[in-house]
Formats: sequence, structure tokens, C-alpha cells
Amino acid sequence: MPIQCSTGCHKNAVLKRPKTGDALCKDCFFWVFEEEVHHTITAAKLFTPDDYVAIAASGGKDSTVLAYIMKLLNDRYNYGLKLVLLSVDEGITGYRDDSLETVKRNEQQYSIPLKIVSYDELYGWTMDRIVEQIGLKNNCTFCGVFRRQALDRGATLLKVDKIVTGHNADDIAETVIMNILRGDIARLQRCTAIVTASEGTIPRSKPFKYTYEKEIVMYAYFKKLDYFSTECIYSPNAYRGYARAFLKDLEKIRSTSIIDVIHSGECFSVRDGVKLPTQGICEQCGHVSSQPVCKACVLLEGLNKGKPRLGLGKTSKIREHLKRNDENLEGVVASDADTHKINIPKTINIKQLDF
Ligand code: SF4
Ligand code: ZN
Repeated sequence: MPIQCSTGCHKNAVLKRPKTGDALCKDCFFWVFEEEVHHTITAAKLFTPDDYVAIAASGGKDSTVLAYIMKLLNDRYNYGLKLVLLSVDEGITGYRDDSLETVKRNEQQYSIPLKIVSYDELYGWTMDRIVEQIGLKNNCTFCGVFRRQALDRGATLLKVDKIVTGHNADDIAETVIMNILRGDIARLQRCTAIVTASEGTIPRSKPFKYTYEKEIVMYAYFKKLDYFSTECIYSPNAYRGYARAFLKDLEKIRSTSIIDVIHSGECFSVRDGVKLPTQGICEQCGHVSSQPVCKACVLLEGLNKGKPRLGLGKTSKIREHLKRNDENLEGVVASDADTHKINIPKTINIKQLDF
């Protein structure tokens, strides 16, 4: 016997909602999903009328649903926003070129203009060429650092007021776990913020902060949205994979684990006296950075000098390591240390440092 929708609308339920376990019909699921995102947006006051907002669009499920729902809520509730899709082309043949075709179709389907910025034009490197140089171990470090800045640069070119990204509740909970495991207090402190905005940057927000990935997939499926579902061909990202698997295991035992981890992350506070990085401006490119030279410039310099591994690892750890060895070793300035002003001792091969 068919199960009735638990809202009492007298239609048959077609799904069990992962977040609450409620049996819902399609229309009631759409409504509750959209209203929850609307509530997240209004409760956190993410936008003001006339904001020009860039939707970071990769063609994947999260950003496609985000683009669809931003347009829908903007129309339904008269947010008064001007929307634009902003995509980053990392230069990954057989992956990003195909997913960008999806974004181009979304541009037509949702009547939202699209701007694409590429690593090739911004940095003179594609991910295909970077992987040729460094292999498949640290490729996501390069890609993540470059993407973050590319999105900022694209947003600056467009002169938007705000950026929205499709990060969902699962992504944020994974990031909390990863930052705890890495002891990265600075990131742990800010990774649950719904808006990140440091001085001189365009604010970024996450309207899907409390939206479960499973529900985004269901929404895209039942709405028959056009999205790209293939994994990146260079996707080892093992560390996040472990955090994800761990959370999925927890979820089997305790269905609220994702939201619980996010709430825990929100409640962490850093005790007085813990030194946190201060934000400044990169001496080379002018972007916000906690170091004199930003990570993107350091990585880029390593690539351009044919020593791509030079920029990997934390600058603070490089400094610490060198301080320990400095007393009995004669220092020379190595190539990327020109930008960091760090003395690299002659006898240490930086490639062998255990970061
Ligand atoms: Fe870039 Fe890694 Fe993501 Fe591929 S999996 S798009 S290389 S960050
Ligand atoms: Zn820089």
C-alpha cells in the first residue's frame, strides 16, 4: 500500500527525506528544500537588494542546483539580485571541458549570463601541464589554491558584490574533521562560517550550509536538472576521502552526525593567546594573504622555475624546520625563499623535508 505524504497533502510519498526521515511527495519535498535554503539566506542576511551576485558554477550537482534555486528564490521572494554564473576552467582535458559544456547549457536554461576564467590565461599553466610536472600526489593543492584565487579574480573582473558557492553540509562537516585532524586551528575557526569575508576580498557565502548532499542529489534528480556527474580524472584527494568515509560510517549509526559536526565546529572558540595568522596583502599579486607572498604566487614561482615542489608545505613549518637546523648550518637563499625571505641551509634538500 502506498505511503501518504507526511505533510497531509493527500499525495503519495515518493521519498524518505534523509535529513528528517519524513516520507514526502515530490512537491512537498521541493517546497521544504527550497524554503530551508530561503530560511538560511534570510536568517544570515546573505544579500541586500540590488546585490550583483556571482554563482560559482562548475556544472556539478551542487552548483547546478544552487544556480537553479538562486534564480527561483530571487524571483519568488524578490531578492532583487542580479545573477551571473562564474566558472573556472582549470584546463583538465576530458573533465572540465565537458563540465563547462553543462554550464553553458545552464546559462541558456536559466537565462543567467556566464563568465569563464581559466588557469591558462591567469597563470600561464593548465592542470594538465601541472600534473605532467608534479604527478598525481599534490595536484589538488595547486588546483585548490589557484581556484580560490581565480574565483576572486573573476569576481573582481565582473565587479560583483558577492560570491555564492555550492558547498553543502557534508562538505563543511568533512572540512571540520579534516581541520581537527590536521590541527589547523586558523581554518577550523573559519570553516563553518556561512560568510567568509576578509578585508579587501569579495564576501563568499554558502547558502547550502545546512543542506545535505543526498537531498541536493534528490532535488536535481526529481527536477531533472542538467548537471555533470563525472569525477575529476586527477582526483586522488585521499585525505578528504577518509574524512568522508568516516562521516558516512558515523551517519549510519547516528543520522544527525553531519549537522552535529557542523554545530560542534561553530561552537569551537580559540583560547586567548593562541597565535593566529593575520591577513595582509601579497607583495607580488596584491591578493589577500597571511604571508608576505601568497600561496598561489609561491606555487607559481616553483612551477615557473622548474621546481614545482618547492612551494608545498606550510611556510610556518618551513620556518620552524629551518630554525631548528639554522644554528649549525650555513644559510643560503634558495629560489622560492627569494619571495619568502627565508634562509635555506645549503645542506638541506627541501624536497626531502618531511612536512
Ligand atoms: Fe582540481 Fe583535484 Fe578537484 Fe581535480 S580533484 S578539480 S585536480 S582539486
Ligand atoms: Zn600573490
